[in-house]
Amino acid sequence: MKVLKFGGTSVGSPERLAQLVPIIQSQESNRQLVVLSAVAGTTNALDAIATQYAQGNVVEARQLIAQLLQSYQTFVQALFVTPEGKDKGQEIIDCHFALLEDLGNDLFTSVEERLVLAQGELLSTTLFHQYLTEQGISAILLPALDFMRLNEDQEPDLPYIQQRLTHELNQFQAETLFITQGYICRNTFGEIDNLRRGGSDYTASLIGAALAAEEIQIWTDIDGFHNNDPRWVANTKPIAQLSFEEAAELAYFGAKILHPQSVFPAQKANIPVRLLDTLDRQAPGTLISSAFDHPDEIVAVAAKDNITAIRIHSSRMLLAYGFLRRVFDVFERYKTPIDMITTSEVAVSLTIDDRAYLREIITELTYFGTVEVDDNQTIICIVGDFKRNKNGYATVVSEAVKHMPIRMISYGGSEHNISLLLPAKYKIEALRALHHRLF
Ligand code: ASP
Ligand code: MG
Repeated sequence: MKVLKFGGTSVGSPERLAQLVPIIQSQESNRQLVVLSAVAGTTNALDAIATQYAQGNVVEARQLIAQLLQSYQTFVQALFVTPEGKDKGQEIIDCHFALLEDLGNDLFTSVEERLVLAQGELLSTTLFHQYLTEQGISAILLPALDFMRLNEDQEPDLPYIQQRLTHELNQFQAETLFITQGYICRNTFGEIDNLRRGGSDYTASLIGAALAAEEIQIWTDIDGFHNNDPRWVANTKPIAQLSFEEAAELAYFGAKILHPQSVFPAQKANIPVRLLDTLDRQAPGTLISSAFDHPDEIVAVAAKDNITAIRIHSSRMLLAYGFLRRVFDVFERYKTPIDMITTSEVAVSLTIDDRAYLREIITELTYFGTVEVDDNQTIICIVGDFKRNKNGYATVVSEAVKHMPIRMISYGGSEHNISLLLPAKYKIEALRALHHRLF
C-alpha cells in the first residue's frame, strides 16, 4: 500500500484534478490510498462563511456561499465530460451547498463551524470519485469521519484509526484504489472536528503509519524541500534526501511545504515520506527517511516570521531554582508554545509566535521582574547534522551574519539545528548571506 496525498493546488482546477489519474496509475504498488485536500482557497472561504454565521451575519454568509457555489459550478462543468457526469457533479455540489445554506436558519454552534470547514475535503473527494467513475476507473471512497478520530487529549487516536481503517479496507479485498479526505476527523464526543489548518499532510502520515505503508507521497506544487527560501534567495536547490529530524526542524521553522506534525507518525513507524511535484512529475523531489543522514553537513536554511521575543530580567533568578519552571508555567497556562530560549544568570529570553495571550502573559511575567518585548523578529534556522564536527559550524554561521544585530542564538538544543533570532528587516539579507557562505 502507498499513501498519496494531493494538496489544495494539486486539486485546484479541473485540469489539475484530471492530471492526478496518470500519477496514481503510474505507481508500482498494488494498492493506493489517495488523500485529498480541499480545492485551493475553499477552506479559507469556508472559514470566512463560518465567521459570518458565528457573528449572526446570515446575509453576508449566504453571499459568500453563493460566490463559492458559482466557482464550483464552473469547476463541475469543466471537469465532467458527459451530460450525466455534469448532472452528477451538480447534484454533489447542490447537496453540500444546501447544507451550508441551511446552517443560517438557527443558532450557529461550534460543532456547525467545524461542519462548515469539513465541506471542502468532502467536496473534493466526492467530485474526484465521481470523475474516476466517469472515466471508468474503479475506486472506493472511504469517509475519513468513519476512522479518523482524536482521543481525549485532542491527539489522533492511532490504535483506533488503525483498527477501523484496516476493517474498512478488508471489506474491499479486490479493490486497489481508495480515496479519503485529509484534515477532517471526529473527536472523542463523535463530533466533526479537524486536524487544524494544513492538516491533510498529517492525515496522510497517520494513515501511512496505521497501515505500515510502503511509502507516503506528499504531492504539492514545488519540487521538494529547498536548501533555502526560493522566494528570497536565488539558486536554491531541492534537497534529495533528509532525515526525519532534519525534515521536522525544517517543516517547523518555516519551509511551508510540509505540515510540521506530519513528520512524527511516519518517523515513529519508519515509513519513508517523499515530497513530489505535480507540475514536474519526473523531478526526484525530497525523500525523508531514516536510511540517510548527512554526516557533518549543513543541508538547509529556513526562516520563520512574526516572532515575538520576551526577556525577563530578575535578580531573583540568581542562584535560585524553580525560576524557569514558574516562567514556563505562565506560558503553559495560556497554551502558548515557546520556540527558542536562552538564559543567563539574571535574565531569560524566549520567543513565541502566537500572540493571542501576549498581554496576559506579560502581566503575569512582570511579577518575576522587568519584562522587555520585541516584536517583528525572525528566526533563521540552520538545519543539518552537527553530531561530529561540533566546533566548525557555529563559527561559519556567525561569520556569515556578523554584521547583523543578532538578538538570540540557540545551538546544541538538538544536533540538527542552529537558530538565530534577528529583527525581521534583516531576514532576506541573513538568508542570502548564509546561502552564500554555506552552499
Ligand atoms: N484544507 C485544509 C486547509 O486548507 C487542510 C489542508 O489542505 O491541508 O487548511
Ligand atoms: Mg499544505
